[in-house]
Amino acid sequence: MDFDVIVIGAGPGGYVTAIRASQLGMKTAIVEREALGGICLNWGCIPTKALLKSGELYEQLSHLEGFGLSVTGKSFDFSKVIERSRGVAKQMSSGIAFLMKKHRITVFDGAASLEKGAPAPKVVVRLKGGEKTSLTAKHVILATGARARTIPAIGLEGDGDRVWTYRDALAPKTCPKSLIVIGSGAIGIEFASFYRALGAQVTVIEALDRILPVEDEEVSKAAHKAFERRGMTFRVAAKVTRLSKSKTGVSVALEAGGKAETLEAEVAIVAVGITGNVENMGLEALGVKVDRGHIVTDGHGKTNVAGLYAIGDIAGPPWLAHKASHEGVHCVEHIAGLKPANLNAPIPGCTYSSPQVASVGLTEAAAKAAGHEPKVGRFPFRVNGKAVAAGEMEGFVKTVFDGKTGALLGAHMIGHEVTEMIQGFAVAMTLEATEEDLMATVFAHPTMSEAMHEAVLDAYGRALHI
Ligand SMILES: Cc1cc2nc3c(=O)[nH]c(=O)nc-3n(C[C@H](O)[C@H](O)[C@H](O)COP(=O)(O)OP(=O)(O)OC[C@H]3O[C@@H](n4cnc5c(N)ncnc54)[C@H](O)[C@@H]3O)c2cc1C
Repeated sequence: MDFDVIVIGAGPGGYVTAIRASQLGMKTAIVEREALGGICLNWGCIPTKALLKSGELYEQLSHLEGFGLSVTGKSFDFSKVIERSRGVAKQMSSGIAFLMKKHRITVFDGAASLEKGAPAPKVVVRLKGGEKTSLTAKHVILATGARARTIPAIGLEGDGDRVWTYRDALAPKTCPKSLIVIGSGAIGIEFASFYRALGAQVTVIEALDRILPVEDEEVSKAAHKAFERRGMTFRVAAKVTRLSKSKTGVSVALEAGGKAETLEAEVAIVAVGITGNVENMGLEALGVKVDRGHIVTDGHGKTNVAGLYAIGDIAGPPWLAHKASHEGVHCVEHIAGLKPANLNAPIPGCTYSSPQVASVGLTEAAAKAAGHEPKVGRFPFRVNGKAVAAGEMEGFVKTVFDGKTGALLGAHMIGHEVTEMIQGFAVAMTLEATEEDLMATVFAHPTMSEAMHEAVLDAYGRALHI
């Protein structure tokens, strides 16, 4: 047996799994066909945040007067904005190479596929140089992630020119003057925010009846208004029927409210979800159970094939980096015979738009649907001292408690840097804090997080500053 554990795919699921396996004393290898860090570090979480920071700073230059400041002239060098983002991605990816070395994890640069074997499938790696090598292990963990979902039948597939997937949108040569984003999930909204901040005319099309449809309805509504104030245009409850290229760019035919409409723009971004990387790995021959592009696993990442596990995006939603890492650590600790942390821990979700959106747990509607009698609290940032001082008064915090037990069921926020604040509620939910615990917690003053405390108090009619 060459290894105790072989991990296939070095995204935040795979590389974290490999590190944990090595910490637990397992002889570990990882196979990566592209770049260490996976989508997250190279083409997802990190480079988008670098772009969004450039966009945010550029936008802020237009709002300095209120602070008694002024600048003359405002411009950007698009190629440098992209270059910075690519540099950040590269830096983070080389950090993973360092971590692999530090934890004595053997890295194979190549594409892996599986063949029948015992006690786990054999891993065949086609190395980047062209040669093949066969590896064996007691346990094989698939962490091959996902890619942009496409719908070729109606033209929703990237061409790298006028129709972009997230990869194209992260590193184009020029900044489009007009843009249609198809899909208003976190990825679509983040690109819409970035390009709008740089001045592009942006229209977002959403098939469901509101943007950011997984968020609490109040947050979706507030986000819609806030983005419109920044000049974005939306078509909700609108179904794209055809995306085609025109002489000047793209033409998107859609149906909304029984009416047909055609929108034109220089470029379109297709952000209609993702699909798991399950192809060309020999999964069919092994009889691995796959359901709608994702590998089916039990509560610990185990597939239906002996010795084979799957974690992260390839194992299904939510498609988030921290969920992938959490699942990986859980899986390998389970293999080691430990009692791993709860796989069903609350998973926060963030959208790094301007303003930001963050949530954890159940929305108010989902709480009702699950049979709870929710007690809801809200607190707006416009009356929070730090927010007023910082000129960041947009948005609010909303908390959802179980009316009977006082358990915190969910928290939802929109506003400045709420993606940093949501962790407070994630900790509270993981520790099963009650309303009493949260009300008794002392929040530093002045901080925007005081709005979290007030939203808890408000759920029980005890808000102090409103
Ligand atoms: C634009 C964008 C922005 C995002 N922003 C966020 C965010 O802000 N926060 C967040 O939590 N999530 C974000 N995500 C989602 C996040 O990137 C994913 O959830 C995360 O990367 C999943 O991790 P993973 O390890 O499961 O897979 P991946 O990161 O996809 O890694 C899988 C790796 O496996 C490799 N691989 C695939 N097949 C093989 C094979 N046969 N052999 C060898 N290697 C193989 C791939 O090359 C890849 O490197 C974003 C995604 C996108 C596209």
